Amino acid sequence: MALPEVGEDGGILQVEACGLCGTDHELYTGALNPGFAFVPGHEVVGTIVEIGDRSRQRWGVGEGDRVAVEVFQSCRSCRACRSGTYRRCEQHGLADMYGMISVDRQPGLWGGYATYQYLAPDSMLLPVPGSLPAEVAVAFNPVGAGIRWGATLPGTKAGDVVAVLGCGIRGLAAAAAARVAGAAFVMVTGAGERDHQRLEQAGGFGADVVVDVLEEDPVAVLRARSGSAGADVVIDVTAKAPSAFTQAMDLAAPGASVVVAGTRGGEVPGFNPDVLVYKELRVQGALGVDVVAYSAALDMLASGRFPFAELSRCTAGLDEAEELVATMAGERSSPPVHGVIVP
Ligand SMILES: [Zn+2]
Ligand SMILES: [Zn+2]
Repeated sequence: MALPEVGEDGGILQVEACGLCGTDHELYTGALNPGFAFVPGHEVVGTIVEIGDRSRQRWGVGEGDRVAVEVFQSCRSCRACRSGTYRRCEQHGLADMYGMISVDRQPGLWGGYATYQYLAPDSMLLPVPGSLPAEVAVAFNPVGAGIRWGATLPGTKAGDVVAVLGCGIRGLAAAAAARVAGAAFVMVTGAGERDHQRLEQAGGFGADVVVDVLEEDPVAVLRARSGSAGADVVIDVTAKAPSAFTQAMDLAAPGASVVVAGTRGGEVPGFNPDVLVYKELRVQGALGVDVVAYSAALDMLASGRFPFAELSRCTAGLDEAEELVATMAGERSSPPVHGVIVP
């Protein structure tokens, strides 16, 4: 595909690295099918190599600047954008997410599995410190998710007992964010052999105890180890594990907040809604991240407080992209915590 001419508006990003997430796996396996051809990749860090004058003002960045690209676009003037919920922008919304726009829409370069990505006028960009290696910086997306899901949405506070279900990079980041918010006790769970390597790394991200739910009862472990009847905050970031939702209900203490992120991929077996009533639970769904959390994530990554740089990580060039996506999707051997494409 040819690089477009940049006029007053828009820009071109030279992609340094693009992180992979569950959506990429689902697009690869076909579980998610947009029905058109597209350039995937929406966790992108790169350098601006061309920028229009109007965009320079609007975005507050210039040529040579290193930036992270928000998945969603914002017109900055509709009601949703002005109220801060720009992910529901009336002009863009879910239809205009980077990494999932048809190649038939000019100039086609709408994703991060590429050497260059087009930046549309309504893009949102965040400055990235030059000290962060690109493959660590792309974690702004999952770490932002962990901060929003693990601390902001549930209102995690000092002294809370927190349970994080799922030990991918978002789960580990949620544990770290809960710890930063002052949690007194943090448990992280995984399921099966495939997760053991991930659970071993959880201690560095603030977990006091880790549980393989196929080997131990997480409710019993939480009670024994935290000395409390249940968790004040439960964060379910499991993928394709509908039964984890029931486990989240069981782990929750009366009055707890339960954050449900990602899609369950099916009905929840054994779920009894009465538990919400008896325990007076607040269940909060979480759709992605926002720039406030991304900004906090870049600060957390730059601080070096948690070992994100040492996470088990696999990087691949565009030629090996398919192999990497297949591995991350669990179609090969045990996947690393983070997969990154470096074109
Ligand atoms: Zn994603
Ligand atoms: Zn808008």
